[in-house]
Amino acid sequence: MRREGIALVVSAPSGAGKTTLIKRLLAEFPHFGYSVSCTTRKPRAGEIDGKDYIFLSHEDFQRRRAENYFAEWAEVHGNFYGTPLQPVKTLLREGRDMLFDIDVQGAAQLKLTLEEATFAFILPPSMEELERRLRARDLDDEATIERRLANARREMRQARWYDALLVNDELDAAYDALRAVYLAATLSPKRNPRLLESLLGPGRAPEPAHEAENAWRN
Ligand code: ADP
Ligand code: 5GP
Repeated sequence: MRREGIALVVSAPSGAGKTTLIKRLLAEFPHFGYSVSCTTRKPRAGEIDGKDYIFLSHEDFQRRRAENYFAEWAEVHGNFYGTPLQPVKTLLREGRDMLFDIDVQGAAQLKLTLEEATFAFILPPSMEELERRLRARDLDDEATIERRLANARREMRQARWYDALLVNDELDAAYDALRAVYLAATLSPKRNPRLLESLLGPGRAPEPAHEAENAWRN
């Protein structure tokens, strides 16, 4: 029986290790579809247009935004990012699990458009370690690092509503936690809407969810 696809949304302050963890998840579960975002940011060395991001001019991004092309969009670190809506909806409906790497503002919007999504937030073990990792990555100048650290504090203040908070201290342990969040999502009754009916047989629909609260009394 085919279930609906799982939308797994992963956010983190820049430098917390999100890219590293997501790469591992995609390597272990290659069936995942990855939601390729549009951005107005310039490509970094090694990034491929259409695979890592769809790189757009500012004008093109704003035009698509006006045409409601995006499921969500946000301005992050001075650049615009957005998730194309239609490809995501189609793939989820076809039963494809989808991974989203998006910031807190965008995730909050997706919570409204993709109600059944699972939201995971990756945290650094400390702010000092976050700064160390940003510097070790050697991608950003000093001003950008300062801005990323300020944004990290702001994003972490907005992370309470996520389904899971994962501390990326020891990489293997953080990865185990992330895959556990994904595997738990595959077991949710919301993702397996017809499982109980199929086991109980025709005409024996399971009780509505609110009946569960009273079930122990009977
Ligand atoms: P993000 O995508 O969140 O910005 P990255 O995955 O690029 O973060 O990781 C930032 C830096 O920290 C990289 O150099 C990465 O190799 C390193 N890193 C990631 N996870 C860990 C960890 N658990 N311990 C030590 N270093 C890590
Ligand atoms: P980077 O430029 O380092 O690849 O990404 C910067 C931030 O933008 C990250 O926090 C990343 O999660 C976020 N981001 C990437 N794509 C999207 C998107 O489509 N929507 C939103 N809201 N954020 C995104």
